[in-house]
Amino acid sequence: MYPANRGRRISLGRLLRAAAMAMLVCPSGASAAQTGASAAQTGASAAQTGASAAQTGASAAQTDIDGLRIHPSPGKTRIVFDLGQPVEYKMFRLRDPLRLVIDISSARFSSDVSNLVLEQTAIRQVRTASRNNGEDIRVVLDLNEEVQPNSFVLQPVMQYGHRLVIDLHGKDQPSLTVALKSQRTLTQMRDVIIAIDAGHGGDDPGALGPGKLYEKDVVLGIAKKLHVLFEQEPGFRSKLIREGDYYVALRKRTEIARSSQADVFLSIHADAFKTSKVSGASVYAISQKGATSETARWLAEKENMADLIGGVGSVSLGDREDEVAEILLDLAQTHSLSFSLEIGDSVLGNLKKVNKLHKKTVEQAAFAVLKSPEIPSLLIETGYISNPAEARKLATRSHQARLANAIFKGVKNSMQSRPPDGSYLAWVKQGKSDEAKTHVIERGDTLSEIAERYRVPFRKLKDFNGLRNDTIRLGQTLKIPPG
Ligand SMILES: [Zn+2]
Repeated sequence: MYPANRGRRISLGRLLRAAAMAMLVCPSGASAAQTGASAAQTGASAAQTGASAAQTGASAAQTDIDGLRIHPSPGKTRIVFDLGQPVEYKMFRLRDPLRLVIDISSARFSSDVSNLVLEQTAIRQVRTASRNNGEDIRVVLDLNEEVQPNSFVLQPVMQYGHRLVIDLHGKDQPSLTVALKSQRTLTQMRDVIIAIDAGHGGDDPGALGPGKLYEKDVVLGIAKKLHVLFEQEPGFRSKLIREGDYYVALRKRTEIARSSQADVFLSIHADAFKTSKVSGASVYAISQKGATSETARWLAEKENMADLIGGVGSVSLGDREDEVAEILLDLAQTHSLSFSLEIGDSVLGNLKKVNKLHKKTVEQAAFAVLKSPEIPSLLIETGYISNPAEARKLATRSHQARLANAIFKGVKNSMQSRPPDGSYLAWVKQGKSDEAKTHVIERGDTLSEIAERYRVPFRKLKDFNGLRNDTIRLGQTLKIPPG
């Protein structure tokens, strides 16, 4: 427990610098879309149908083409090459008869593509041949109709590896806009990143409980469990702000979160109070206009003292830039505060299933560690370490796991209902990808293999498609439920 230091406020000069820094950092965590589409050479040269035979010594540097999938849809045929690694390719059209030729450098087919189902597609026949002494591969699509091809590459995501995608748009399709939209949707899918901050550490033990139980140890235990839960969840990644028993300055904590491009910042604590009777968990968000309760104010002062105790040389209290800083922070925080409160409600809803709550609503206080204006942030007091009964529980791995699980569920539910643009979660929610949302039955497919491939439960796949038995037929289109 720290001495209540009521007379002082934390330096807003520090916050000004933090706010200015925040504005320089690009808020979008989207990884750059890799759109290596080498332009389609239209027009076309002499009719050069692919067929130089000699398939000789294949070199080790060749990329394996693990599969070729063809998906018909209204107005569009999609061709997907599943690749071992990215490839260089060229594509051009030929007339009389209509063909589309795709030359892929330094590649070879490692699977049989002779049994493709071409019904309801723009393709009449697929031919493949090796070129340049077996070094390169040429794929010729004999076409039923005039098409506008559009190609792009996709990086690995979820169950998919590298892919080369070619969309053949029917004549009157708005090919470019459709293709670009689809491309953006697929390439920018990213994980939601949760920064997990175990409070205190090193020379700063945080609150002290009976039997030398330190807050810093309890919260590191919970934080590590929470980290594993997010790392295992599709669409999420997690960053531990501190991974061991050492101190990290408060400002450094938010800097780490920002440089990790975190979408949410969670600071995990275990409280202490003047009397040992108080117990229960509470969740705090940053306050814009002062603390919502006396407890919140007292706690903020206590937690903010950590830098002085944990050992940061130059903590200045009382800075002239205070007023400007306050205005800047108010402007920057409006958005993330409302989302913080939303996530906080969801966390509280889950915490109350495993723990008594000290406060039933999200409290607001001016915590230095939460001052990361563009990132929705919460400070979670998992319980009162000053209460002997609660301290005993907090010391156990099982209770730490229950708390971690409750926080995980609360944050996960919030992020799923309001996923950031361009994230995998947004993609799942909006069901935008026509590639991953359907599967056209090819020869040799079985329902159980399809379920495994798309990582959906077998029963769910059947129910989703209203299938009464396990029989499927060639060319049938199955809808894949979101994972
Ligand atoms: Zn604490």
